[in-house]
Amino acid sequence: MKCPACGNAEMETKIKDETLFYGGQSMTLPTMQGDFCPACGEGLWDEESYRRYTEAQAAIVRAVKGEVSADIRRIRKHLKLTQAELSKVVGIGKVAFSRYERGETKPPTPLVKLLRLVERHPDLLAEMSPAFNSHQAELSSQ
Ligand SMILES: [Zn+2]
Repeated sequence: MKCPACGNAEMETKIKDETLFYGGQSMTLPTMQGDFCPACGEGLWDEESYRRYTEAQAAIVRAVKGEVSADIRRIRKHLKLTQAELSKVVGIGKVAFSRYERGETKPPTPLVKLLRLVERHPDLLAEMSPAFNSHQAELSSQ
């Protein structure tokens, strides 16, 4: 079979490991089979390998999303705040925040980074919202 991309070379059937990367995670699929072009690198997975590839892709996306939303929930509980309180502090809508926690929407990366920072330095909460000074005093007295 001629390469569908460049048309210049015969595709070669190869078996190899394919690694997927998503959101800082990786997953390696062993013995994936497909036809590859030695000239341009174009590749077509065979039916079985393609099915495994798409399933793995969905799984890694689910895993990363689930991990991030679990993280947000854990941090919020650690700070002893309700969704309404924390969403107010970081300045996003309560509905959006609850979607992030349930994993329905992918939270913006800056928000996740900010929350991880606040988790390690809870006193930053007070600076972000003066109204939380009293709450903060309560946290640090524990
Ligand atoms: Zn080619």
